Amino acid sequence: ADWAAAVAAVRGLPATARVLLICHVNPDGDALGSMLGFGLGLRRLGVRQLQATFPGPPEVPESFRWLPGIELLVPQDEAYPDPDLVICFDAASESRLGDLVDRLAGSGAALVLDHHASNTRFGGIHLVDPHAAATSVVAEELLRRLGVALDAEIATGLYVALSTDTGSFRFEATTPAVHAMAGRLLATGIRPGEISRRIYDTRPFGAVRLFGEVLLRARLEPAAAAGHGLVWTYATRDDLARHDQPAYVLEALIDSVRCTAEADVACVVKQVSDREWAVSLRSKGAVDVSAVAVALGGGGHRFAAGFTGRGTVDEVVASIRAELSGALLAG
Ligand code: 5GP
Ligand code: MN
Ligand code: MN
Repeated sequence: ADWAAAVAAVRGLPATARVLLICHVNPDGDALGSMLGFGLGLRRLGVRQLQATFPGPPEVPESFRWLPGIELLVPQDEAYPDPDLVICFDAASESRLGDLVDRLAGSGAALVLDHHASNTRFGGIHLVDPHAAATSVVAEELLRRLGVALDAEIATGLYVALSTDTGSFRFEATTPAVHAMAGRLLATGIRPGEISRRIYDTRPFGAVRLFGEVLLRARLEPAAAAGHGLVWTYATRDDLARHDQPAYVLEALIDSVRCTAEADVACVVKQVSDREWAVSLRSKGAVDVSAVAVALGGGGHRFAAGFTGRGTVDEVVASIRAELSGALLAG
């Protein structure tokens, strides 16, 4: 990682500089938490003209609307057209940035903070660590190198990012270094019980009923992935409309599907438009789902990945089934 260049790019900003923070479409806890936590750090450094934005539907999931720094967010068409510095969080490729790739191209300088092994090295100065459990690990390191002390507001975003990308410290990525960082963040006085309740355990009743309906139609295919098993379900825009729910409530659905004991691979197919579907894939270890996702035009991590599928649900699931055996990991 090019820390020296990144530190110089931030330290060299004139007082009048406009800084734009961006992250991937349909932002998750890591994208928003890293971006807003880092943004508050820049505020402490005296950056005055600071905005944050993301492409696509502008709704922030209810579970993240309370994050400190949320006031930095502006709709993408109101974001500085030619910022002096763009800092990009948690995006593996330009395709995850929609129309905001213009801002990268039109900026004075760009920093890319990420942790995807599939990162395409787009943009300017790269701070990409595929061994980091979350982009917030990279963000915390850059704040330290910039001499910004953690406070409770900065730590909240970084903690939400670290917690969500490690599945509440349950995934394999939960190393001693992850717990050490969590310790530094908790030492600022943030309250993990309250944060967890807000991000994991709060859902409208309509979403509870929607999940029930969508889980009832889940299918288990024990023979898929050379006998390691596939479980999948889907949700349409009509399902959302019937329960009066926004699309983002479906982000948590994969966690209710992937617990299926008989399947290594879990999949949720979420309708975006008539014949377009956002697909989430998870693996317990037998299958490299990022290989499946990359083969189908997406990306991600070995055990959590996604892509955009086209056609009918059955066609999308058939395309996944066809890639599964080829993505088996040795051992
Ligand atoms: P999720 O299923 O939570 O939306 O995404 C899981 C992981 O897969 C994320 O880390 C994200 O980077 C990646 N991912 C999800 N959807 C896409 C996609 O359409 N394209 C790419 N390149 N990566 C995706
Ligand atoms: Mn993300
Ligand atoms: Mn991430």
